Amino acid sequence: MKTSRNNNVKIRMKKKRRRLGLIVATVFLMIFLIGKLTSDPEESIHQVATSVAEQSIIQETIQPEKKRPDGRPIGKVVYLTFDDGPSILTNQFLDVLKEQDVKAIFFMQGSNLQKTNLQENVKRATKEGHYVGAHSMTHIYKRLYDNEQFVPEMNETLSLIQDITGTNPKLVRPPYGSKPGLESEQIRIQIVGAGIKIWDWTIDSNDWVLKDNPNQIVENVKKGTKNDVEVVLMHEKSQTLQALPEIIAFYREKGYEFGVYNDADHFSLNFYQDKYL
Ligand SMILES: [Zn+2]
Repeated sequence: MKTSRNNNVKIRMKKKRRRLGLIVATVFLMIFLIGKLTSDPEESIHQVATSVAEQSIIQETIQPEKKRPDGRPIGKVVYLTFDDGPSILTNQFLDVLKEQDVKAIFFMQGSNLQKTNLQENVKRATKEGHYVGAHSMTHIYKRLYDNEQFVPEMNETLSLIQDITGTNPKLVRPPYGSKPGLESEQIRIQIVGAGIKIWDWTIDSNDWVLKDNPNQIVENVKKGTKNDVEVVLMHEKSQTLQALPEIIAFYREKGYEFGVYNDADHFSLNFYQDKYL
């Protein structure tokens, strides 16, 4: 009897030890897996992205009636954008926009922002309700994309704008567009990390090559207009200044509102359809 009871105890002990071993092994496996997940660089990008996505969900619940599920405004909205300024023409662009009661977006270049004689009109732009975003310091393709100076240059330009206007913009327009310059995952990680947002365009007016041909600029814009939400690429050129009243009249006639960009209502608009940019 005594031996058989001892045997029973031994068997029970064995079973207990085996169960304990199994639990310990499971715990170690879980710790290993969790460690692997958090050390994965793609996973950490995903975490940043998730928190950005959560923020936009919060914003959506504040103004649900004004946005589509993808964050774009409801209704027909056109965003007029002007690159490469400030220039000697900025003042006249602002005059036309004021006269027409239209707001626009200026993507300005650092090397021009540094010219003190042009800074008064940069201030005027923000005072009159336009958005001033960044378009890099140098506009040089090789520097920005091949040498990965995109984020440092955009940061420098954005802080110049802040110094001049007191605003704190986060939106930038990549010189030559984001494709193929921002193909590299390395630069995109830097962009998301810096909290910078990217806008390409939906309509290229091709204005910069159409010297003395404002009618063709208007035609290009009309031909390109297909969607409820459009972003028109233009530049601070004299032919564009001449075309501008007709472009505004065209959109009014088609029932578009003129969009005023603000950082809190950002929606993604880039040639990669990357929702984190
Ligand atoms: Zn440009």
